Amino acid sequence: LKTFDVASIRQQFPILARTLDGNPLVYLDNAATTQKPQAVIDALVDFYTQCNSNVHRGAHQLSDEATRRYEQSRATVAKFIHASAVEEVIWTSGTTEGINIVAKGMAQRLQACDEVMVTQMEHHANLVTWQQACKMSGAILKVVPIDEQGNLDLAAFEQLLSSRTRMLALPHVSNALGTINPIKMLTAKVKAVAPQALVLIDGAQGVAHGRVDVQDIGADFYVFSGHKLFGPTGIGVLWGRRQVLEDWPVWLTGGEMIATVTYEDATWGKLPNRLEAGTPNIAGAIGLAAAIDWFSQLDMDAVAGHEQALLQRALELAQQVPGMRVVGNAENKIGILSFVIEGAHPADIGFLLDRQGIAIRTGDHCAQPLMARLHVPGTARASFSIYNTLDEVEALFKGLHKASMMLA
Ligand code: PMP
Repeated sequence: LKTFDVASIRQQFPILARTLDGNPLVYLDNAATTQKPQAVIDALVDFYTQCNSNVHRGAHQLSDEATRRYEQSRATVAKFIHASAVEEVIWTSGTTEGINIVAKGMAQRLQACDEVMVTQMEHHANLVTWQQACKMSGAILKVVPIDEQGNLDLAAFEQLLSSRTRMLALPHVSNALGTINPIKMLTAKVKAVAPQALVLIDGAQGVAHGRVDVQDIGADFYVFSGHKLFGPTGIGVLWGRRQVLEDWPVWLTGGEMIATVTYEDATWGKLPNRLEAGTPNIAGAIGLAAAIDWFSQLDMDAVAGHEQALLQRALELAQQVPGMRVVGNAENKIGILSFVIEGAHPADIGFLLDRQGIAIRTGDHCAQPLMARLHVPGTARASFSIYNTLDEVEALFKGLHKASMMLA
């Protein structure tokens, strides 16, 4: 695909041909999960029909083949995020598990009075997990504020940063607002003030919207979920710098992750296996690699340009809906439109859009403290992906006009 051709992209996603009660599906819930192209569905079916078996242990051809495909998938991920070594890619079940591996390990190393920084725009996965790590260790959780538009307050960040900072964990992109954070700059500031501090980027929303180069960002960890990148659910990635991962506390113990075992004791294997106990999600890894191969054919500038065009049109149309207010309207954001309409509950908006075949998400978006900070009980959120069209943006607003009339 040399140029960005939405029609041909749409054809590759079978679910987009669906109708709901006679209405064509308008899928605008991509921040929750993306749809899957035929290439990913085929890769899963092909694995289970042609070479299903366990990896790394069989003395037979199928196992060799499965192992080869599985490890090639790791290499595909490493190349995609520009990791310096394949062993830096640890398979997880998703972003949540990746954050937990880092936070649980960190909790063993943090001491009372050490400081952990997160932001006001965290998904619960990156807030609750660090709250727990701080509670377990006695470390202090510092929360970097945002302004009314949903931008991080950089002056406050600098004030909170100190030589006691041991960890900064923040989202690449906010799931609730779409704000893109200046992660490279923030990482550099942390390293300058507290050279031993580690930085984790929650890439759940960042990874499907442009190039990710983990070496360029300079952080220590980057975690994401396959299902938000056109891949299957149940598979995700923890990328970590090799020097950091090499002695990271093991968190799950069992088969695959050991070197030697006696009745009394065990020693751990090498990366990446030492952090991957048990039979992995083999098909998931292969499916994610298929998604990455598929996505990587696209011109990333064109992908970003398309999503921005959808967002800009949505922002224009938002001004014409009586009582509609865009929440967290940052300058620099991906195709996420979070909004409220005066006098209408977000859940009712979602329900009335759904009756018209339009799928959005409503509620607190797993960010209750952020909703409180922005003085809203929740929002309605339309999130765009590469296969959405300007016509679908128009359909959303036609649906919203209809819904607000019914709710008025
Ligand atoms: N962080 C962010 C920013 C997210 O958007 C999500 C998913 N909504 C998560 C973490 C958690 O991802 P998962 O549920 O796939 O583990």
